[in-house]
Amino acid sequence: MKLDRPIVFGNWKMNGLRADGLALAGTLAERAVRLTGTLGVFPPFTLIHAVAQRVKDTTILVGGQDCHDKPSGAYTGCVAAPMLVDAGAKAVILGHSERRHGLGESDALIRAKFAVARASGLLVVLCIGETEAEYLSGERSKRLAAQLDGSLPVGIGPEGLVVAYEPVWAIGTGRTPGREEIALTHAEIRAMLGKRIVGGEAVPILYGGSVKPENAAEIMAIEAVDGVLVGGASLDARSFWSIYQAGGGA
Ligand code: PEP
Repeated sequence: MKLDRPIVFGNWKMNGLRADGLALAGTLAERAVRLTGTLGVFPPFTLIHAVAQRVKDTTILVGGQDCHDKPSGAYTGCVAAPMLVDAGAKAVILGHSERRHGLGESDALIRAKFAVARASGLLVVLCIGETEAEYLSGERSKRLAAQLDGSLPVGIGPEGLVVAYEPVWAIGTGRTPGREEIALTHAEIRAMLGKRIVGGEAVPILYGGSVKPENAAEIMAIEAVDGVLVGGASLDARSFWSIYQAGGGA
């Protein structure tokens, strides 16, 4: 899958009933006639099929927000990667901090999910990020390296992977690291990926955490930032589209 810059992905989290989701997807579909970058939306499971249908004449990518670590079986209430594909998803977010910290997901579990997602043909958007305590104690790099070590399956190639650097303390808080910090951290992550994956320097790296129309241009002007993963501001078509345009997308 070719991912042109800017890559702008919207994580709807647990928001959206059918009418809202389709209205949002419909507005984006009308604007996204010939995209110059990569625009993607990650609706709740219940809306994936309807949204995929709504944007089917565009290149907007639709993804899931998680998948199980087994391809099928007796796992009540869970959703498997092949089911996402069947519903029209082309990608999946794994390791989001709300699942790591809110639901106690471990790196090992994320690694197992990763393997099933890739075997199903899904693009994996792997989220990594330090907590505020780790940030303040200077352990950011150590934490990010450990998350990559724990959650990347051994022997994978760079294709089908996007990494989203999302400092936990920046998600939904209105706070973001400074420009220099984001540039430095992305460069570190790129070097880490190069050490762990043959050709890993080519893996796109997104920044995520309180991206808004007001700060999107500054963040996406950073050379090491290939795009952004947007939470709250992706629920409003106008905000989401202006973030995409701020990154040079049309
Ligand atoms: C997210 O949930 O991935 C995220 C970045 O959220 P927000 O943009 O709301 O901080």
